[in-house]
Formats: sequence, C-alpha cells, structure tokens
Amino acid sequence: MTSTVGAIDIVAWFVYLFSAVMFVVGLHFMNSPKTARKGNMISAFGMIVAVLMAFIVLFAKGFITIVAVVVLVAGILIGAVAGVVSAKKVKMTDMPQLVSVFNTVGGGAAALVALNDILTKAETPDIVVLITAGLGILIGSVTFTGSLIAAGKLQGIKWVKKLALPGKGVWNIVFAVLSIASLVMLCVQPEQRLLWSILTTVFALCYGLVFVIPIGGADMPVVISVLNACTGTAVAMSGLAIDNVALIVAGALVGSAGVTLSILMAQAMNRPLISVLAGGFGGSDAAQAGDGPEGTMKETSPDDLAVQLVYADKVIFVPGFGLAQAQAQRELADLGELLKGHGVEVSYAIHPVAGRMPGHMNVLLAEANVPYEELVDLDEINPQFPSANVALVVGANDVTNPAARRPGTPVSGMPILDVDKAQNVVVMKRGRGTGYAGIQNELYFEDNTQMLFGDAKKSLQAVINAVKELLA
Ligand code: NDP
Repeated sequence: MTSTVGAIDIVAWFVYLFSAVMFVVGLHFMNSPKTARKGNMISAFGMIVAVLMAFIVLFAKGFITIVAVVVLVAGILIGAVAGVVSAKKVKMTDMPQLVSVFNTVGGGAAALVALNDILTKAETPDIVVLITAGLGILIGSVTFTGSLIAAGKLQGIKWVKKLALPGKGVWNIVFAVLSIASLVMLCVQPEQRLLWSILTTVFALCYGLVFVIPIGGADMPVVISVLNACTGTAVAMSGLAIDNVALIVAGALVGSAGVTLSILMAQAMNRPLISVLAGGFGGSDAAQAGDGPEGTMKETSPDDLAVQLVYADKVIFVPGFGLAQAQAQRELADLGELLKGHGVEVSYAIHPVAGRMPGHMNVLLAEANVPYEELVDLDEINPQFPSANVALVVGANDVTNPAARRPGTPVSGMPILDVDKAQNVVVMKRGRGTGYAGIQNELYFEDNTQMLFGDAKKSLQAVINAVKELLA
C-alpha cells in the first residue's frame, strides 16, 4: 500500500506538471486572435487531465468512500454542464458578467480548499501552511463577494447598482484591518484555528462587499481584472498550502496575467490603480445621472448621412457597446467597403474600453473581416479627427464624452476619442439613453453633431441602401 501511495504521488506530480505546461502553452497561443481558440482548448485539456488525476489520487489512496465518489462525479458533471451551457449561451455583450461569475466560483473554491486544509489536519499545521492557506482563505473570500457584486452591477441589476455605503473609505479600512488581524492571529494561535479561520473568512467576505460597492461606472473593467488577479492568487496560495503544482502554476499564471492587465487598463484609463481600488472614481453614477448638459439634439436621416459620407474624403467610424448590442458589425464593415470602393478613406477608432471587455471592438470587427490595419488605436487616431469630414459614432457613448476632460464627473480623466473635433459628427443610437457610466454625453449637444436615432443595424442598412442609390 505504501509503495502504491508513493508511486501514485510521483505519477501525480508529473501529470500535474504536464497540466501546468499545457496552461503555459495555451496562454502563449492566446497572444493572437488567430490562435486564441487553440490556446483555450490546450489549457482546457490541461485542466481536464489535472481534475482526472486528482480524482485518481483520492481513489487510489482510499481517501474516499463510494458515496464520496458519487458526490464528486455529480459535482464534475454539474460543473461541466453548467460551464459549457453558460459559455455557449452567453451573448458576447454579457461576457464580463460571466467572467465575474467564474471569478466568484474560482475565489470561493480556493477559499474552501484552504479552509478544508487547515481545519482537517490532525496535527497543528506549520507556519508556511498557515500563511499560504490563510492568504488563500482571505483573498478567495474577498474575490467571492466582490465578484458577485461586480457581476450584479455589470448585469445592470438595479438594486445592486443602487447599493451605497455611508463613509465608504472607512469600511474598506475597518474590514481590511479586521481580516488581516484575524489572519495574523491564525498564524500566532494555530491551536485556535477554527475560530481565526472563520473570522478571517467572515471579515474578508465583508471586505469584498465594501470594496466593490463604491466602485462604479467606467471603472468596472479595471475592477474585474483586479478580481481576476485575486482569483489566481487565491488559487496559487491554496495550491501552495496543499502542495499541488497544477494549482500553483495555474493560479500564478492567472494572478500575474490579471495584475499585468489591471495595470495596463488603469494606465489606458488614466487612473491610478490604487484610486480605482479605493473607489475614488466613477462611484457616484446614480448621483451624477441627472446632471446632464443642456440644449437640444439635432436629428438627421439616413439619406442625409449618405450624402455626407459619399462626398467625404475621410471618414472615421467610432464603434462602441451599441454596435455589439445591435450585432451590426457586418453592416458597418459593408458600409466601409462601399465607401472605400468610392475612394473615401475609412478607418475605425478603437478605444481600449469600448464595449464591455478589453479588446471587445477588435474581436467584433475581426468577426466582420475588417482589415486589421484599418483599426486605429486611440493615441494614433485622435490627431486625425480634425481632418475627418465625418466621424460616424455607432453605439459608442462614454468613450466619446467630452465631460471626461473636466474634473468632477464619473468619467473624469478617462482618455476619450476626440470625436467632437471632427468637422461633422453623426451619432447612431436608439434614443436619449445614457452610456454605461450613467451620464448624458455632451457631444450630442455640440453644433457639429447630428443624431440618427434607431437600432444601429437598421440605421446602417438604411444608410447602405441610400449610399447605393447615390452611387448607382
Ligand atoms: P456605452 O455603454 O457608454 O454606451 C453604449 C451606447 O450604445 C448607449 O448610449 C446606447 O444608447 C447605445 N446602444 C445600445 N444598444 C444599441 C443599439 N441596438 N443600437 C444603437 N445604439 C445602441 O458604450 P461605450 O462603448 O462608449 O463605453 C463602454 C463603457 O463600458 C465605458 O464606460 C467602460 O468603462 C464600460 N465598461 C467597459 C468594459 C471593457 O472592458 N470594455 C467592461 C465593463 C464596463 P441607447 O440606449 O440610447 O441606444
């Protein structure tokens, strides 16, 4: 029995290492949209192998009864079916909520693994296990509640969006101090580990709530990325506690990728990361929603827009969340091709947080076969707006709001596309609704702006028909 156990441990170590290598290789393939799908499959294969190996180890060591086997198989089946169905069914515009829910599950699982490790050990755990498992519990619990609130906000659940805390900064400090103090006590008094690990869990769960509740509006992308990094870190800590190489490597990869992405996104949004995490920006979307600009919006028609486009030398398309919502990317690409065929210079202005996930517009437009070289980043396209005869905004709102240039608004400081500097601006949207940050867009009231109200897909189809008639 002992030699079987020794042999299975060695085999398991190599299998987990193989899984970890699969994660790294998979991540490498995710560098490019062309190979990302393959990368995802390779990483998923690594994860399936690791889960099966864990199952075999438990069974071979006689750790589980037949009832436990049934529970484990049921758990694997329910988890797999829920994962596949939700990932297949979810609309692309709802992907950040799904990521947030996955973060909730990942953080919660990591905290439970660490809790189980500390509480079921017969002998007192050594200090390394106490620290790593304690951190797994703390970070995993913060991620659990924080991600739940983030998912609720992203889904637009009204009561979640309305949640507010009096003296928000105070609660952050109170629960951060209490969670860390309980973690320290867990290490100092391991014989009282039931008490201290439960207190660490409860305070960290509360911290997750008070951490995300004050953050709102335009800063959510950074928060999701930070919570993703937390999930990875919690998993790596739990992996260290139970000495599982697959969890350590997978967690470290997710954690470090999440930290890198958070820093890059905070820089792209012109936010100090620490201020975003302290709820310093975008938290008062509800309060700010009413303070809109005054004036009237001028309307235009598909026929008038077609004339402006056909007689233009240079047109810049500005896609945003509404393009994804309307699934109008093919129509936009068709309009671009029509205009290019007529000798008009066409480019697409890409804001780093347009849509609902990083790179959303790139993926959407790649789906419609828009040539990659026509997608132009914010820094490069902004100086080109003054020379554009028409900037056509399709379902973009916050990322074009000049209010970002002034302090005191939920989008203040966020770099925007300088659409208002184009010679003529036409905005396609359904009505007078606000953007994600909950404020009205000052661009819509500018002298050079006209609105084309309606679903973006239908509006684009009408404009394409009008352009074809003009060119016939
Ligand atoms: P916004 O969410 O600010 O605005 C989208 C606009 O699209 C709305 O004004 C809406 O107006 C319009 N719209 C919706 N459906 C349609 C439709 N079918 N046809 C035409 N128009 C439509 O989009 P942006 O892309 O400008 O900004 C993204 C926002 O999301 C930023 O605040 C960003 O911080 C946030 N965010 C970004 C994430 C990311 O990683 N990219 C993740 C999470 C949040 P109307 O209702 O009147 O039609």
